[in-house]
Amino acid sequence: MENGLKQLIRKHGFSFKKAFGQNFLTDENLLDEIVESAGVTDSDTVLEIGCGAGALTRALAKKAKRVIGYEIDKTLKPLLDDVLDGFNNVEIVFKDVMKEKIADIDANLGKFILVANLPYYITTPIIMQFLEVSNKVSSMVIMVQEEVAYRLCAKEGTADYGAITVAIDLRGDAEIVKSVPREMFTPPPNVDSAVVKITIDNDKFKDLDLKSIRNVVKAGFGNRRKMLVNNLMMAFKLNRSQAEAVLNSSNVSLTARGEELSSEDYIRLSETIKKVQNEK
Ligand code: SAM
Repeated sequence: MENGLKQLIRKHGFSFKKAFGQNFLTDENLLDEIVESAGVTDSDTVLEIGCGAGALTRALAKKAKRVIGYEIDKTLKPLLDDVLDGFNNVEIVFKDVMKEKIADIDANLGKFILVANLPYYITTPIIMQFLEVSNKVSSMVIMVQEEVAYRLCAKEGTADYGAITVAIDLRGDAEIVKSVPREMFTPPPNVDSAVVKITIDNDKFKDLDLKSIRNVVKAGFGNRRKMLVNNLMMAFKLNRSQAEAVLNSSNVSLTARGEELSSEDYIRLSETIKKVQNEK
């Protein structure tokens, strides 16, 4: 453990809570790389989720105009006060971000960059919620389990391609910025990680009905062993000829599987299904 964190923990009598996924970063170079990959400048607002002992928060605060941090564990307050002493551009909200309405967070901010190094069990729901709800997020720089990083950046037709890959592709692009071995964390988790950057492009697919598309994507990946036609029949209560007609009008093969479809295919499918349902 790096000296600064060790001293901080001893000074404040802090004990790590496994249930909150508390694996902290200390390496200054890595922290700077994360901030740099987020492209933070002095005109940016950053929303950081899961501040921990504040090492990343501090690195962000040095570059950003404003940092709003969420942290579930109130016992980290004295450490955060200590580490962030002298920074008047940081505000920490001691709340469970999963209990917040993303739409409310969004409404209270201008355009912002999301940065998060979270417990892995909430990373995917957080990414999904911001993709679906936020109009203000311009990019997300997120530490994820290495396997999840491959999923976020996967190409259609591969085993890693899934509903979250399509959700990202509908709003922007994802790239792996850096692999981070487990030893870089204190205490080390059981898995290696990677930093992924999702850049949001609001012009990519304008005016989409994301909710309808999401339902079709969910159906498409509902049962990966089944062909898409069967998954559509189940999810949208269609008979076989209706489901086949939907695929034909959407220019999708009758024998396709959900993981073979691009986000453009899902957009067309969703439009056709909406039409069919309105005619029912
Ligand atoms: N950002 C710090 C770093 O990089 O060293 C800490 C990262 S640690 C992996 C995850 C942090 O998220 C922990 O401090 C934990 O208490 C916090 N956390 C976990 N669940 C949370 C939630 N639902 N809402 C807000 N913070 C949460």
